[in-house]
Order: sequence, then structure tokens, then C-alpha cells
Amino acid sequence: MSSQPSGRIRLHSLNFRPFLTEENIQERVRELGNTLRERLGEGNPSFVVMLKGAFVFAADLVRASGLGGEVCFVRTSSYAGTESAGRVKLLVAPEPELIRGHDVVLVEDIVDSGLTMQAFLPMLEAMEPSSITLVTLLHKPEAQRVEVPIDLIGFSIPSKFVVGYGLDYDGLGRHLPAIYQLDEEY
Ligand code: 5GP
Repeated sequence: MSSQPSGRIRLHSLNFRPFLTEENIQERVRELGNTLRERLGEGNPSFVVMLKGAFVFAADLVRASGLGGEVCFVRTSSYAGTESAGRVKLLVAPEPELIRGHDVVLVEDIVDSGLTMQAFLPMLEAMEPSSITLVTLLHKPEAQRVEVPIDLIGFSIPSKFVVGYGLDYDGLGRHLPAIYQLDEEY
């Protein structure tokens, strides 16, 4: 990774420009945490974190919520080419005892086409949680192809590729505290 005076960064051969600052993100995550506490504060919810991209957001959100529930992780295969939701497979599954009968907070980094959530939500529902609250840090409404019942959205953004704060470009950029957008002019 290299950085330039404009704040632009280069990952592999692509250039990215600053998009959401660390302060923007932290302020919104605090608000989302407060909302979760207001909604679920009476219970002891389980946080279900979508790997890999949501791990940074989830770490901040869990602490911002002040909710003391368990945390577990999910990893799905990304769909290939033709993008049939049926092709999404569970590579890492959540522990059933953390889901059944629990209020679940499902933590996602970004809802783009919606196909990943369309495929995963029925799998989660089949594990019989008491409720599901889907929280996504980012949402690309113009890219969405299927309905997804999102409860809380951090930021609605244009359909451009972004990196940072857990999101990568081909393995790079997850460590960045801010979010950067693909800069097609360079
Ligand atoms: P969907 O199934 O909604 O199309 O996409 C969900 C997944 O695609 C996200 O969890 C994320 O891994 C990946 N994704 C979608 N848009 C972006 C983006 O702009 N940047 C990065 N790094 N990943 C993205």
C-alpha cells in the first residue's frame, strides 16, 4: 500500500480516495450501538458476525452497544459468475445453541446485491432464533437486486467499490481505520 498527499491510497494497481473518515464511522457506530441497546437492552442477544469483512465493525459495535451477549462467526462462500443465491454455501456456521431461542444481532459489513443475505437469512431462521436484527454498516441501494429486511444501516452509499475498516481489495486494506472509494479517474 502507498499513500499520497491528497489522502489517496493505492492498493495493488487501483487508486482509492478518502470517503468516510474514522470520525464519521465512529460517530455512526456509537449511534447504532445506542439504538441496539434501546431495542435489545432487556435481553442477552447473540451477535452473529459475517466474516471476514464485518470483524472490525462488529468489534466496535459490540462495545458501543454495551450489550453483553455471546459472539459467533459465519463465513459464506461468495457466489460466482451467474450469482445464483443457491450457490452461497456456509463455510463457517454459528453454534446452534447461541442462536436457538436467542435474540440475534446479525452484523454485516455491506449489503450490495443482497444475494448473500437472501441466501443466509433462511439458514439462520432455520436455527430458530427468537428474533433477528440485521445491522449493516454500508448499503448500496442502487446495486440491490433482491429484497433484504435490513433493520439498521450505517451509511447508504453509491454503487462504487470501497475498502477499509475491515473491507478488503484482494486481501489489502482491512486494517485502515477509514473507508476509501475506488477512484476511477486515476
Ligand atoms: P452481496 O451478496 O450483497 O452482493 O454482497 C455482500 C458481500 O460482497 C459483502 O459482505 C462484501 O464481502 C462484498 N462486497 C460488496 N460490495 C463491496 C465493496 O464495495 N467492497 C468490498 N471490499 N466488498 C464488497
